[in-house]
Formats: sequence, structure tokens, C-alpha cells
Amino acid sequence: MSQYTSQFAQAAEAVTQNTDHRSFLQTALRGYQKVRANTQARFTDWQTARKVAAEVKWEAIENLDTHLKNLTERLEARGTKVFWATDGKEAREYILSVIQEHDAKSVVKSKTMTSEEIHLNDLLEKEGFDVVESDLGEFIVQLNHEAPYHFVFPAMHLKREEISHIFHEALGTDETYDPEELTQIARRVLRQKYLDADIGISGANFGIAETGMISITENEGNARLTTSLPKVHIALMGIEKVLPRLEDLSLFLPMLATAGTGQALTGYNSMIGGPRQEGEIDGPEEFHLVLLDNHRTRLLADPEQRDALRCIRCGACLNVCPIFKNVGGHSYGTTYQGPIGSVITPHLRGLQDWKHLSQASSLCGACTETCPVKIDLHHHLLRNRRNAMNEKPKFTERVMFGGFVSMMSRPWMYRSLTKTARIFDRLMQPLQGSWLDPFRPWRKTRSLPPVAKETFKDYWQNRQK
Ligand code: SF4
Repeated sequence: MSQYTSQFAQAAEAVTQNTDHRSFLQTALRGYQKVRANTQARFTDWQTARKVAAEVKWEAIENLDTHLKNLTERLEARGTKVFWATDGKEAREYILSVIQEHDAKSVVKSKTMTSEEIHLNDLLEKEGFDVVESDLGEFIVQLNHEAPYHFVFPAMHLKREEISHIFHEALGTDETYDPEELTQIARRVLRQKYLDADIGISGANFGIAETGMISITENEGNARLTTSLPKVHIALMGIEKVLPRLEDLSLFLPMLATAGTGQALTGYNSMIGGPRQEGEIDGPEEFHLVLLDNHRTRLLADPEQRDALRCIRCGACLNVCPIFKNVGGHSYGTTYQGPIGSVITPHLRGLQDWKHLSQASSLCGACTETCPVKIDLHHHLLRNRRNAMNEKPKFTERVMFGGFVSMMSRPWMYRSLTKTARIFDRLMQPLQGSWLDPFRPWRKTRSLPPVAKETFKDYWQNRQK
């Protein structure tokens, strides 16, 4: 068992036993589902929109090389420095070198999950830079020294009293439970940070190959300040975020907003095509785009699961997932939680270490049904399970399944074993729940149905008599 497996099991058990936490989480997600259903109903035909979105992303991923080439050539033509990072280490080192080259002291970031993926903050803080997250949710979890709970709603697990306490401890502000006042506190702190920042780091929701632009969508306006106030802007984008045409945004922007937060359109949608051009009054003097692979090409090479690269990180699959609702976001221990995290993390970080996430699923298919780009999520979980078994079969499972095959292909063995199982079940009844019960771990959270008193075959024979 990998260390990640036991961490997941422990964390998940703790959250499932915390009924307060689960009920808070489930109430929040019920609210999301209601709002989303209303907004979704405003689409003329949501299912057709999903189909079109899936096809556009399919085209983008199948021709990723061409689209990325077009994107970078057009950005470079306007003075952008594009860096191709094979992995997180290369991306971190490049970003650090840009910061050092400018003799920068402070860095302001706007929501970028890709930077969480490469653990950028850890490196920058270790190097002594003042790094501040400007997205409200990320700002809160940063002050609380924890990872985002959900990649769209990073602080969704915290109640306003807890946020007030975090601000009080970290910023010395008075306790207040008024959401508006809490937002104002963050705004006051962050405004000064923008003015002081030498470098702005952002993510990118989409890269438009046709025009050579990145598109950033957000609700607080912080990405605009992050990308235009500091003299240098560095954007970190996963290579799968590319879209072929500018007009594709007319579908993807409302779709991302609807699936992600239940809004018709996100508050701020910005497009950046390079550093400040001659005659422009604002924008950074330098713009760097870091294109991150970090094993995405490994997923691209897998024709069966390649469609997972269509993901637009809307977070909808987390919001409907019964496992996420019960174990919460931190239990996963990954940057991308929920069904999509369980599908892609084994590809990005190693199948054997992260295969347990594919087991943590009821396979109900709610994720696949809700996904706006029609990723076959729950079947990918099954494929991950199969691949993990094929790659490194477990001795116990081999024996178990070998025995099962042997039993099912020999009727005499099947009959005698079912008889033995009934006797065994009767003998075990008095031990149920005690230390001698071999099914105790199973019974802790589930009930094991008793073995039927007679087999169907016996029943049928008796009935005919
Ligand atoms: S897999 Fe689909 S539902 Fe889940 S985050 Fe990605 S796009 Fe959204």
C-alpha cells in the first residue's frame, strides 16, 4: 500500500465521521445544483451544446501539435516569450529564473491550479519571495496554510466564522461574520499587494490558436490586476487548454460558467495576446507563457483515455460526486480532486501510487452525465483499475480471481462451495462484530447480507417436486 493510499484512507475516514462537515458541504453543493439547473435551462439545447463542445475539444486534442505551434508563433510575433516545460521542475526553474532576472521581491498570483500542480509557491517562498494569492478563496487557504479544497471553490469547506478567525490571526483584523466586510478586508490587503508586486503570475483557462491569445475567466477582477499592474506577467498553462478558434469561446465561456458555478457568464473574461504594445496605455512590459506538459503527453499517447485532456476544469464532476460529497476535497491529497482528479492523477503522478483513487468510486456515472465536454469519467476509473492490475497484479487478488474462475467453471465445485458457505455463515453468526469476525472491517461501514438459506437451484428443484 502506498503512503498516499493510507493517507487517503485515514483522511476519508475522518471526514466521513464528521457529520457536521459533511452536512455543510452537502448543503453548499445542493445550492450549486439548483442554481446550475436554472442556468442550464437557458441553453436552447444543453445536450447539443455538450456534443459540440466535446467535438471542438476532440479536434483540439487530436491536432494539439498544430494548434500549439500556431498559438506560440502568434504570441511570439507580438513579443511574448514562450517556454515549453517538460515537467514541473523545468517550469519552476524557468519561472524562478525570470523572477531573479528582474531582481523581484514580491509576486502576486491569480488563481492558477497549474501552479499548485507544480508546487510553485513552496519554491518561491523557500527562495524568500513574498508570494500572495489574490483569488479570495485561495488567499484564505494560503493564510490558513492549507491546500485548496476544491479546484474551483478553494475555501468552500470554511464557514464565515472560521474565515473571520483566520483573518484575525493572520492579519490582526477584528472578528466579523459579515461576508461583505470579510471581502473588504481581503480587498484592502490585496490592493496594496498589487501595487507592490514586481511579478504577476496567472493561469489560463484557454489558449486560442487562431489568434494567439490566452483567455482568463474569473469573478473578482483580480486576474486583470495581476496580469496588467506588475511589469512582468508570467502565465502558466497546461498544453491541453488550447482551443482552435476564437469563436469557440462563444460556447466555452458560457459553458464553463454554467457548469462551474451556475452563472450564465463569469464576471470577468480577459484575453491577453502579448505584452504591452506600442501606443497601449497599460499591460506588462514583459509577458511569458509557460506551456506545461508534466505527463500530459503520456495521457495523449493513450487513445483509450485521451479524452480526459478535454477537461476545462469546471469542477462540475466534483459537485455531483457522492464520494467527494462524503470524503471532501482534502482527502484526495491531489491538486485535482473528485472524479477528474481520480482519472488523471494516476497518469500525471504514477498509476501504482494513485490507483486507490479509482477504487474510491461508486461508478454511478453522475460525473460522466454532468461533464460538459462528455469525458467518459466513470469508465476511465474502471480502465485505471484494470491497468493497475495488469501492470502489477496483486498476489491476493490473483489468487482470489483465479479461485473464482476455477469455481465458476466447475459446477460441482460451485455447488459444494455454496453449501460450505452456508455452514460457514451459520458458524460465524455468533462472532459478528467481535475480534474473531473475519469480515469485521467490512461490517464497520456496511452490512454483509447473510448467505441465502437455499440456492436457487435447490429452490427450483423443490418447487418442481
Ligand atoms: S471532467 Fe468534465 S465535469 Fe469534471 S472538471 Fe473536467 S470538464 Fe468539468
